[in-house]
Amino acid sequence: MNYEVIIGCEVHIQLSTESKAFCSCANLFGGEPNTRVCPVCTGLPGSLPVVNRALIDGAILAGLALNCTVAEVTKFDRKNYIYPDLPKGYQISQFDMPICTDGHLEVETDDGETRRIGIIRLHMEEDTGKNIHADDGRDLSFVDFNRSGTPLLEVVSAPDIRSPQEAVRYVQSIREIVRYLGISDCNMEEASLRCDANINLWVHEEGETYATPIVEVKNMNSFRSIRNALQYEVKRQLSEWKAHRRTLEAEGKSTRGYVDAKGITVLQRSKEESADYRYFPEPDLKPIAIPREYVESLRKRVGELPAEKRLRFLETYHIPERDAFQLAVSPALADYFEATVAEYANPRRAANWLLSEVLKYMNATGTTVPALRVEPDALRELLLAVDAGEVSGKTAKEVFVEMAETGERAGAIIERRGLKQISNESELEEIVKRIIAENESSADDFRAGKSRALKFLMGQVMKATRGKANPQLADRILRDHLRA
Ligand SMILES: [Zn+2]
Repeated sequence: MNYEVIIGCEVHIQLSTESKAFCSCANLFGGEPNTRVCPVCTGLPGSLPVVNRALIDGAILAGLALNCTVAEVTKFDRKNYIYPDLPKGYQISQFDMPICTDGHLEVETDDGETRRIGIIRLHMEEDTGKNIHADDGRDLSFVDFNRSGTPLLEVVSAPDIRSPQEAVRYVQSIREIVRYLGISDCNMEEASLRCDANINLWVHEEGETYATPIVEVKNMNSFRSIRNALQYEVKRQLSEWKAHRRTLEAEGKSTRGYVDAKGITVLQRSKEESADYRYFPEPDLKPIAIPREYVESLRKRVGELPAEKRLRFLETYHIPERDAFQLAVSPALADYFEATVAEYANPRRAANWLLSEVLKYMNATGTTVPALRVEPDALRELLLAVDAGEVSGKTAKEVFVEMAETGERAGAIIERRGLKQISNESELEEIVKRIIAENESSADDFRAGKSRALKFLMGQVMKATRGKANPQLADRILRDHLRA
């Protein structure tokens, strides 16, 4: 059967601002229920909202990074519906004048090509509270308003996505950009990044194209569940089409929830249209004019995005693609890398060291890049010592940990602890000659083809130098002299 998969995504991003969207309650995850609430975020009569500037900034930063146009004037609207976790009876959102519109994002397709996914709009809103249902058999539900009023961005894509895996990559790209901007931690487990998807099929039959009914899929809480839910929907809609041949025109839209444990979607409701929400302008908040100079000042803060940086690292430093990817997603690590290789001819080694030894140390000790006691030029000094054969790669790893612990330079540690390798050829040659002379039977064994004898002789060289002989060099000299 000839068909296309049509997907559009709505991504919700919880901003990690200090306070909530319209009140001064702390914006944090979890905690004792109802400990971070006030009259505004619980919708008590007479309370008035005040917009958090950090919400506006976060929306503009994200909009610019997603190539959007930032509105000159934007306003908030009330989206009216009733639910226990929404005590006001409406959510402050944006309807016809969203802060950002008309952006796009490049995403890799399943064939390794690049596709431009349109972004219709990005708007600001507040999160709701959370219903908690008793899990001890009691027929009780509770509401926690800690999350109520948490600032949210909603990013609505055009229906440009063409496969479940492409949808995953799209959401991953958004997460990468938002994390890079530092405006959200985008943690799917804590629901600070959420995705709903609209999906249907265009079935091509005998020169005609039929659109199957659009389904909004909700409750996808991981990248894996986005992929699995959408793959399930493709199969389900295909068999529906084969059995009933219903089209979008006849059937309208519906909402289905993904049940992770079963890997299926189940019907929740036939989709409400936006008119059902009776949107109207929020009378308690004035429209906001956004000066162009302000937008430009935020554009400077956006700087080079991860995708651009990755490309530049590949072209400039010729490092492996995986390394470029890992470095580019962390601005601090990327800057550290560039400072390290500024006067260093081996960017591959620097990248490899950063992503193995340095990152390992940082993860084990919970150190951030700014708190790292090894400055880029100090790391460069250590790498140069490895390049010059002064220390082995193995010893250098120990030296690095000591540098990070003490803030001391590599040269000083190598000197003080007597870690310098003997890389002087004539010095090693003298030692090798002596060892062969003292162990003639082993030398004869090697010449007779017993390779184990070489290991023994090497051991003697190491013993004589107290482990400081440059192993590659010692091995070569030993073989040379045994052959002679
Ligand atoms: Zn509050």
